[in-house]
Amino acid sequence: MKACEKCGSYAINPGRHGRDNTDQGLCDVCFWRKRAAEKERSLAETQRQIIEAAERRGYERAIAECAQVARAAKGDDHA
Ligand SMILES: [Zn+2]
Repeated sequence: MKACEKCGSYAINPGRHGRDNTDQGLCDVCFWRKRAAEKERSLAETQRQIIEAAERRGYERAIAECAQVARAAKGDDHA
């Protein structure tokens, strides 16, 4: 039986617990932890892009656009 390459656990179950067959060297915990970290990185990247755009275009306009997007998402775009 193979141990997790990160933490040494033997709980490696590719294809089970919602896992696909990638990262077969990782246990179930490290498999999902890695995906959570990737999601967090992409969220941080989105945040960085929004701030950058706001600085480029001026905060007031960016905030107005964000408010518009938020209203549209709520289905209330006539405000
Ligand atoms: Zn592990």
